[in-house]
Amino acid sequence: MSEVVICRPVGGITINSEMEFVLDGEGGVRIFDSTENARKALRDAGCTDEEMAHMTFLESGGTCVRCKSPLFPSLIPDYKYQCFTCDEDFYGFEQENGMDGGAS
Ligand SMILES: [Zn+2]
Repeated sequence: MSEVVICRPVGGITINSEMEFVLDGEGGVRIFDSTENARKALRDAGCTDEEMAHMTFLESGGTCVRCKSPLFPSLIPDYKYQCFTCDEDFYGFEQENGMDGGAS
């Protein structure tokens, strides 16, 4: 099962290129167990189906080589993945290699 994060247009359902993530109570990005749980949590928080239709549900796509947290697709076009724990965006190859390069 993949972890899921939710991003939504800043300012609600208006057309806006800038996206923000749904956060947990401590200011970190909230990571859900599944899309189903994410939708349920949104509904519990008072979100309507129409609001949810404008949100993007991102499924994890790998594991961070640094902290082993789930990686999610990056919103930055040049990057492939991001780690919310490290607060870093990664190119795909950094994750595929899985190593820092080691001693020179
Ligand atoms: Zn990380």
